[in-house]
Amino acid sequence: MADVLTELPGVGPSTAEKLIEAGYLDFMKIATSTIGELTDIEGISEKAAAKMIMAAREMCDLGFKSGVELLNQRKSVWRLSTGSKELDEVLAGGLESQSVTEFAGMYGSGKTQIMHQSCVNLQIASKIFAETENVLEKELPNPKSVYIDTEGTFRPERILQMAEGAGVDGQYVLDNTFVARAYNSDMQMLFAEKIEDLIKGGNNIKLVIIDSLTSAFRNEFTGRGKLAERQQKLGRHMATLNKLADLHNCVVLVTNQVAAKPDAFFGVAEQAIGGHVVGHAATFRFFLRKSKGDKRVAKLYDSPHLPDSEAVFRITEKGIQD
Ligand code: ADP
Ligand code: MG
Repeated sequence: MADVLTELPGVGPSTAEKLIEAGYLDFMKIATSTIGELTDIEGISEKAAAKMIMAAREMCDLGFKSGVELLNQRKSVWRLSTGSKELDEVLAGGLESQSVTEFAGMYGSGKTQIMHQSCVNLQIASKIFAETENVLEKELPNPKSVYIDTEGTFRPERILQMAEGAGVDGQYVLDNTFVARAYNSDMQMLFAEKIEDLIKGGNNIKLVIIDSLTSAFRNEFTGRGKLAERQQKLGRHMATLNKLADLHNCVVLVTNQVAAKPDAFFGVAEQAIGGHVVGHAATFRFFLRKSKGDKRVAKLYDSPHLPDSEAVFRITEKGIQD
């Protein structure tokens, strides 16, 4: 059932209409927005926005949570296999829901392959893990993926090939994968915001992929003068993705490019693009690099509760494997 926005203080029918028009369809969306976002809507003052947000937060029961409540929320976390046991082990079981996982690496390091494989694996019951049957039944009936493709590298044929390799119906995987080609960062951000609508429309979106997170931003905002604007937008985009992960228990995967670190003599000579904005918003961060033949190395270097470690996997015709 839709929330009745006029229940919020200071919101009459005309303001409610404006909110809905701007995409604020329910209390949760308002509760998790910022004053700046709401005042972008014509006729909403800063004071009114603050009041609305506070009231919506109360209605959605947002605020302090006890450790026990958080533990219960963590219990609904589920995991998606990458296709490689070794890589799953580094992740303590697989790609985690309620988190954003970043794969950074040079061209050909396997980022896009992992994204494709994840869409396939989401349709395979034996590749999805949860602590209890209950979570699987409640959260994962007919799960669907959204693939936001900013580099034009999504290939349905590759999905079919990987599906065949895994012994599942490729057509079925494609039916359950929404793909959007974003030609610039505005489109990319808009598509991410539109995922809420897909969910409201009854699609059980459980996997969200942005491939690549940063390339459009990097191309459009060049030079020092544009850096602040770029980081601000990227920050907003990351907030959208984190909200999706948290509120809808999704696995969110982003790919990222790397750049040479100018000041590194020793140690890591490359770093992921996007600076702190991406670094703080991604829960798990990986570097991928090429090894011999079809082998790739994935190094986990930033996670809140897992040790840094490395996994070797392979990219074959069948997909991501050990
Ligand atoms: P990026 O990190 O740039 O996104 P990709 O994930 O697209 O890189 O990886 C491309 C690599 O994946 C290719 O160089 C090739 O080694 C491997 N690959 C792609 N398609 C296939 C396939 N059908 N069979 C085997 N290997 C493939
Ligand atoms: Mg790619």
